[in-house]
Amino acid sequence: MSEAPSRARRLGVVTRYREHAAAFSPAFWEVKDVGGAWIDPPPGAIPMVSCFGDNRLGRAHPDWIQVDQEGTLATRESRYFDWTAICPSQEPVRAQAQSWVQKALEQSGGQDLRLDDVSFARDGYCRCPACVSAMKESGSDWSLYRQDTLTEFVRAVRPLVSGRLYLTLYPDPYPGHLEERFGLDIDRLKGVVDAFVLPIYDLAYSTTYWLEVLARGFVDRLAPTPWLLELYGLDVAEAALGRAVDVAAFYADRVVIAYDRDLDKLKRLEARLQRE
Ligand SMILES: [Zn+2]
Repeated sequence: MSEAPSRARRLGVVTRYREHAAAFSPAFWEVKDVGGAWIDPPPGAIPMVSCFGDNRLGRAHPDWIQVDQEGTLATRESRYFDWTAICPSQEPVRAQAQSWVQKALEQSGGQDLRLDDVSFARDGYCRCPACVSAMKESGSDWSLYRQDTLTEFVRAVRPLVSGRLYLTLYPDPYPGHLEERFGLDIDRLKGVVDAFVLPIYDLAYSTTYWLEVLARGFVDRLAPTPWLLELYGLDVAEAALGRAVDVAAFYADRVVIAYDRDLDKLKRLEARLQRE
């Protein structure tokens, strides 16, 4: 059983606005997203680095793209994917991701960092030549090979980050799903990162029972590692978002709102957290 969660008081943000970054804590800033463009972080913001999602690098290096047994590439043009997934088994890809981490920390002047898209694209990925030969050498099976690969990547990044290391997860708390679908061994990663971030997005939050089900699942799944629940804010009605914030604050260690443009709305939502 998990312990009763405590209420989170400060509101965090994911933002593209410098004045928002200065007003909230933690303030996450996408320095490198899945499109591949780089945006310098403002001082004090926590840089987010999309490690294995990059449309631009996929175009420049088609052999870096994750691929399944049938030869289906993990790109936006394929059926399942919203962006191009590049392969963490390939040494130049890992080196590139680590150099993004170093550059992001130098530019932010801070000590904290958030890793995004540390992931295989889905079940059955990747079967590129680098994965096939590394898996054979490992004497392991595909499931364990994928989990070892991503755990080792996060372990390699860990010494570069002197402050808090955050890791974003896909919002599926069902036991075994993150391991089998994306190659993320949650139990081992708990010993490597300082906190997980769970974006649980909706464009309206007109109901919240599903949010509560997922949040409760993550309390069980992630304890004792702290975790942040990230809600989508842009153009979501304030009353509905406020109800979602209440649910999130009950279960998560911290609530984060992503991409809202409205500074006053964010400040009122933070005041709502502090009211009780
Ligand atoms: Zn591969």
